[in-house]
This record gives sequence, C-alpha cells and structure tokens, in this order.
Amino acid sequence: MICLLCQTKKYESDTLLQVLGLKKVLERPICDDCNNQFAAIFTSCKGCGRHQGNNQLCTDCVRWQIDGKRLLQHRALYQYNDAMKLFMQRYKFYGEYAIRHVFNRKLKDLVKSRDTDMVVPIPVSYHTLMTRGFNQTIGLFENVRLTDLLVTIKSSKQRQSKFSRYDRLNREQFFMIENKTAVIGKDITLVDDVYTTGMTLYHAADILYQAGAKNVKSCSLAR
Ligand SMILES: [Zn+2]
Ligand SMILES: [Zn+2]
Repeated sequence: MICLLCQTKKYESDTLLQVLGLKKVLERPICDDCNNQFAAIFTSCKGCGRHQGNNQLCTDCVRWQIDGKRLLQHRALYQYNDAMKLFMQRYKFYGEYAIRHVFNRKLKDLVKSRDTDMVVPIPVSYHTLMTRGFNQTIGLFENVRLTDLLVTIKSSKQRQSKFSRYDRLNREQFFMIENKTAVIGKDITLVDDVYTTGMTLYHAADILYQAGAKNVKSCSLAR
C-alpha cells in the first residue's frame, strides 16, 4: 500500500491477496507510523473539548458564557497537531477523498455517545463545494445518519471582516435553515471537521435555538 498521508510505500503490510488485487487495501489508507502521530484527547474542557489537564471551563468558554451562549459541551477526538494539520491538508486541499474513512468508526461512536435526536453537519459554502467537490464534514461522518439542513449564506472570506467580536456574534448571520419545523423540540448534535474558535458552531447553534431546538451540542474530529 501507499500511505495517503506520508505517501510512503509500505510493502510489508500488504498481504499476498492485496498485492494480487484480490483484497481492498483502502481499509487502512494510513500507515502505522502516521497513525501513531495523532494525539487523542482524554481530559478536556467541558465546554469546548480542548485538551487540558482537567475538565474545568477554559477562559474561552467562560467568555462564551459571558456572551450569553449556552455551552456546546463540545467533544473532539484528537488534538489539532502537525499530523492532524497534514491530514486536513491532504483531505481538504489536495482532495484526497479516500482518506475520509480513517476516522469513520471512531466518529460514529463519538456521535452515538452524545445520544441526541438529530445530527446536523456544518455546511460549506457553494463556492467551496464547487472548488473542493465535497463537504469535508459529511465525508468524515459518512456512516452517520446526517440531517443536512443548514445552508451557508456567507463565505468564510466575508466572515474575516472588519467587524468586532460583538458584531460577528450578534449581527452577522452565517447560516439559514432549510426546514425549520424539523428542529422544533429536538436534541441536536452539530458536527464539524475542526473546532477552532467556536464561532461557526455557535452561529449554527444560535439559528437552531431560534428555530425551536431544545438542546444543541457539538463534536468534531479535531480541536
Ligand atoms: Zn504514513
Ligand atoms: Zn473551553
């Protein structure tokens, strides 16, 4: 096999059947060396899932609370370290779509552990969909039943604007909901590829709460 991350040939892990093309080799598209570079999150901030020594709220989450947000109780599988950055780069920007399978099972278990009525992916903009060809989050959570009801109405470039944090939180709108009645009274898990500042997820949560969602949590591959 050729590892989709480091692009190194790893002949030793191919069985004879794989070499002869009689068995799929894509079940494990990443070599053990690369796999060992990912850093799992064990103990984390109970608000945003950030890797830290205890589960107390971090300063960012305290600030979200001051801003009046209900915390997302975010959970992520891995830290956003160099290996994860490389993974995202190959997946999103080099369009290595086969790599999406690597964390499928673990992400499915993570979503299951949240135990909510509905799983909603963060959408990508029309422009991103046209240039990349896929929504990276839907690919990562491919084996999870997703309800794809958010639509992006503002691109990420427009978001990096001159607005203050207050304006970005309270005046800008990133998303709209296609079927508002579907979320009324529902417990919802939002899923994304990476939690960076939380801004995107909190915007999505806001619009779901406005439409009548009962509770909104979130999870992602990396934090
Ligand atoms: Zn590798
Ligand atoms: Zn936090």
